[in-house]
Amino acid sequence: MRNLIKKGDVAIILSVALISCMLMLRDFSHSNKKYANVYENGELKCTVDLNKNEEYEIEIAGGKLLVRNGEICYIASDCPDGTCESFGWLGRVGDTASCVPNRTVVTVVGEDKDAPDAITF
Ligand SMILES: [Zn+2]
Repeated sequence: MRNLIKKGDVAIILSVALISCMLMLRDFSHSNKKYANVYENGELKCTVDLNKNEEYEIEIAGGKLLVRNGEICYIASDCPDGTCESFGWLGRVGDTASCVPNRTVVTVVGEDKDAPDAITF
């Protein structure tokens, strides 16, 4: 009874380990790449790379956005309700903030927009 683990078992264990490794890497790269689409009047004004550790401001209609540590936020707005500023920091794929009076929208998207994030099998 020396061979408790047979050759075939080793192959199965190795392939399972390999597949889970690949899935982990895929998840890692997927969740790590994100961008913010900034819309003005329903048109894409710019796409912000949220993968860099940079801090800068973006001028938009009626206000300002701040990009910092992979997140984006309305930091100033001349709109009367200030709802856009109350959205806070957006850093996860799917996060969205908007300023209705100024007709601006910010939404965080993943790298591959075809990824089946919203599809349940
Ligand atoms: Zn606003």
